[in-house]
Amino acid sequence: MTEANRFFKDLLDNLYDGVYFVDCEKKITYWNRGAERITGYMKAEVVGRSCAENMLRHVDDFGNLLCLAGCPLGKTIQDGEMREAAIYLHHKMGHRVPVQVRVTPLHDADGKVVGAIEVFSENSFRVAANQRIVELEKVAFLDPLTGVGNRRYTEMILEGRLNELQRYGWPFAVLFFDIDNFKQVNDTYGHDMGDQVLKVISRTLLTNLRSFDFIGRWGGEEFFGIVVNVKEDQLFGIANKFRFLVEHSSIPVGKKMLRVTVSIGATLARREDTVVTLVKRADELLYKSKTGGRNRISI
Ligand code: GH3
Ligand code: MG
Ligand code: MG
Repeated sequence: MTEANRFFKDLLDNLYDGVYFVDCEKKITYWNRGAERITGYMKAEVVGRSCAENMLRHVDDFGNLLCLAGCPLGKTIQDGEMREAAIYLHHKMGHRVPVQVRVTPLHDADGKVVGAIEVFSENSFRVAANQRIVELEKVAFLDPLTGVGNRRYTEMILEGRLNELQRYGWPFAVLFFDIDNFKQVNDTYGHDMGDQVLKVISRTLLTNLRSFDFIGRWGGEEFFGIVVNVKEDQLFGIANKFRFLVEHSSIPVGKKMLRVTVSIGATLARREDTVVTLVKRADELLYKSKTGGRNRISI
């Protein structure tokens, strides 16, 4: 097998969807892991057998056995057309699995149809519902521009961390970031470039956090970091690392490199804090950094 062929075989083998090939006699020549997962039939049980032996017993919404009449694979082998259908297959364990199938003809070098490829994915309500939940969570909790947590999510995380501090004494700190003179960036380079800067800055903050820390977009050009398990004497170093990393991020604008800075207000959480008092303290410290000349940290 050539390097390229091996690459494509690995790719197919590991696809989440089920994939199989048949030749013109509808004999199965390839069966990937996704197909094993969805049907329960292992490669060794199906390769070399004819799918006309009706192992998968595809049926449509009306219970018609498709193998006898209306097999999408058979039709595609005959007419060379691609087709798609929502049908049900038979799982090895006996239950019926709703699947969406897509059938594509397989051609030889002369363009003659030599078989077909079927790609199928689970189409069950459960799968669709789970996908929907993941999508809704994204909409509810993530900032669409930068992909970091939104303000609502940030407040939820803060609430959780305060709870842990009060119950178990687990310390944490917050960092309130505000990009300096951001209005000028928009005014000089345009709003789209401003958006680009927000994306780059949030990336810089996100990728340099430890895995259990958190960054959210508080609003406009303000970000909110939550850093767990820190002591007072470590806070300046942590905040300064972010200040420094932002200062040294460059965003290409035409031939020039655009740079921005952030001002930071950083404070440890106290047991008696609420979300409101904690954010207020961080905000006042941030204001101090602004009036003190920007690109600096107040603790
Ligand atoms: P300072 O150093 O005092 O923070 O000055 P600043 O210009 O950053 O602060 P100001 O509050 O005056 O302006 C914030 C600007 O951020 C104004 C607003 O248009 C811009 N902004 C807020 N949200 C977005 C956004 O989603 N995209 C873009 N491009 N700009 C935004
Ligand atoms: Mg601001
Ligand atoms: Mg600002």
